Amino acid sequence: MKMSKMFVQTLREFPSDAEVISHKMLGRAGFIKKLAPGVYTYQPLMWKVLKKIENIVREEMDRAGAQELLMPFVQPKELWEESGRWEVYGKELMRLKDRHDRDMCLGPTHEEIITSVARDGLKSYKQLPVNLYQIQSKFRDEIRPRYGLLRGREFIMKDAYSFDVDEAGLDKEYENMAQAYKRIFERCGLDTKMVQSDSGAIGGSVSHEFMVITDTDAGENDVFYCNDCDYSANSNHAVSNLPEAVVDGKDYFKETKVIDTPNTHSIEELSEFLNIPSTLILKSLVYIIDKKPVIALIRADKAVEETKLMNAVGGIDIRIASSAEIAELMAKHGFDAVPGFIGPMKGVKIIADNTVKDMKNFVVGINQIDKHLVGANLSDLGVELNYTDIRLVERGEYCPQCGKPLQVTKGIEVGNIFKLGTKYSKPMNAVYTDINGKTHPYVMGCYGIGISRTAAAAVEAHYDEHGIKWPIAIAPYHVIIVPVNIKDELQMKVANEMYDALKSAGIEVVLDDRDERAGVKFKDADLIGFPYRVTVGKTINEGFVEFKVRETDEQEKYTPEEATEKLINNIKAVL
Ligand code: ATP
Ligand code: MG
Repeated sequence: MKMSKMFVQTLREFPSDAEVISHKMLGRAGFIKKLAPGVYTYQPLMWKVLKKIENIVREEMDRAGAQELLMPFVQPKELWEESGRWEVYGKELMRLKDRHDRDMCLGPTHEEIITSVARDGLKSYKQLPVNLYQIQSKFRDEIRPRYGLLRGREFIMKDAYSFDVDEAGLDKEYENMAQAYKRIFERCGLDTKMVQSDSGAIGGSVSHEFMVITDTDAGENDVFYCNDCDYSANSNHAVSNLPEAVVDGKDYFKETKVIDTPNTHSIEELSEFLNIPSTLILKSLVYIIDKKPVIALIRADKAVEETKLMNAVGGIDIRIASSAEIAELMAKHGFDAVPGFIGPMKGVKIIADNTVKDMKNFVVGINQIDKHLVGANLSDLGVELNYTDIRLVERGEYCPQCGKPLQVTKGIEVGNIFKLGTKYSKPMNAVYTDINGKTHPYVMGCYGIGISRTAAAAVEAHYDEHGIKWPIAIAPYHVIIVPVNIKDELQMKVANEMYDALKSAGIEVVLDDRDERAGVKFKDADLIGFPYRVTVGKTINEGFVEFKVRETDEQEKYTPEEATEKLINNIKAVL
């Protein structure tokens, strides 16, 4: 490819809305162009990267025994009603009507469609197991599309779905996919960590995420892990052992009684007022889960993890209640408390964190303004409690497996695998017939990779202040040849010869034949992120070209023949 003909516009500035490295770099280097929030044109350079990632994914999925298909992007409401998700999937689901007033949606994921495909095609145990995948654009009307390709509304995903006769089959395929994922990300030049995660709106019981660990702002997930054993989990799933704490207030409270606690709206104010550690306060928080109020109880020095709480009540939408909603709840139950004085009450769903179980002689709100009950015990609460883990794991806590200190870091989720079990096959009556002629729902798994997010994550992991440093396997081109002066005959002759030699060896090479200053060409080469740059300048008069490795900044002088050979060898070793 000749640079003068390449469809690319590098910019002087980063896009004004770009907050993270990959968005800044991909925008400025002309890889992506925004059409609407979270909707981008993949320009030719970007498309080359995406196709390379797709091909790595395709090769590894095929190698793992999966078969590729392509399902429609527009999906009818009826299938989503069969699974029960039409009603419950939030606003991320882009709904639309066709000219006959039929409800449709843009596919955010394809469990419903693949399950219907399978039930028409997989009738007998003899046909199982099967794993089907596709690579396709998805649409999710994300509440906050941001970070360029990392959180788009339209984005490219590889989604695979496995069908087995039983759990054992699923377990095997799940492991098979986990191995394939490890290979895929490795080949893309990405270091990933496989961490336990929440199953979210997709459903199912067990799931793992593949995280690119990063210290940039792009890491949207906290990942907890242990250096001493193999424990690692996303914060929405992580559990921990807590350091010792005072959880019995017998030294502070000799009797159980209601006392005045004026203006103690926060835990700090209350613990200061009573001169007690916050570990002796039982905190009550009101959430709205799927439109209904839920009171969460937790030891006050700890925070609630909202996904855990939402899962504890089987909900799919959660937010903290507004003051108006709290006032309404209080009025309905004959109370008048504001935040700071809320406590458990009858007639409202209550979820208590495991930390509550061990508390004795503690302090708790009683839904009256400026009052608390002190020296309280669980039996004084007047409500039945079910305990579960809804606690956010924090720094300074211990590994649930081996007890050593937990570490925390940030990650970008590039892939996610789920054991779905019969979550879709059962309601959608997707069954196979066993050897005795009995029917059973398939036992399913699903496996996603964000192709466009993976490309952006690769930039987050490989860049410097001058631009992108693409890993060779997914770089749009491998080499750029820069003749310093295109009017110099010898320089152009050597540049063209190397260009032809590399091209015929199957190397993807760009010749920067623009009539620009060398500095401009070097800047663009660094920004776009070609793994290798060959400069043909004055030293060619002594028979040498300059060879630069983008990743390490290493520079060497070689004869054109040596440089060509080195490039072919280095690049072929990776591909
Ligand atoms: P997130 O938690 O980041 O919103 P998710 O868990 O909802 O993602 P999945 O349903 O697991 O996403 O989708 C599979 C993969 O698709 C993800 O692992 C991620 O790589 C990619 N992906 C999901 N949402 C987006 C998005 N808005 N933009 C780009 N890629 C995405
Ligand atoms: Mg996910």
